[in-house]
Amino acid sequence: MKRKSISQYIPQRTCVACHQVRPKRELIRLVRINNGGIEVDTSGKQLGRGAYLCKNPECWEAGLRGNRLDYTLRTNITKENRERLVRYGKELLGESNDGKNK
Ligand SMILES: [Zn+2]
Repeated sequence: MKRKSISQYIPQRTCVACHQVRPKRELIRLVRINNGGIEVDTSGKQLGRGAYLCKNPECWEAGLRGNRLDYTLRTNITKENRERLVRYGKELLGESNDGKNK
C-alpha cells in the first residue's frame, strides 16, 4: 500500500445535467458499455466513456431526459436502458441511506 503525497488533490467532475463541478465522489458515474448501453458504475473504475450526475433526483431526471447522455457518451440509449437507469436513480436517491451496510 503506497501513500501518495497528493492528498490535496481532489478529482472534480462536471454533472451533465446542471454543469456544476463537484468532487468526483459526490457524483454518480455512468459508463458506456461495449454494446452501447449505459450502466451505473458503482465502483467508479469501470473502463469506458463516462458521464457524471449529481446525487440529486432533479439532475438524474434532467440528465436522463432528452439525449444529453446519448450525446455525451456518443451512443443511443434504448428505451429499456433509460427506464432502467431512471429506476435505478429513484431507488438510489429515494432513500437517503448513504451507507453500504448489507
Ligand atoms: Zn447536477
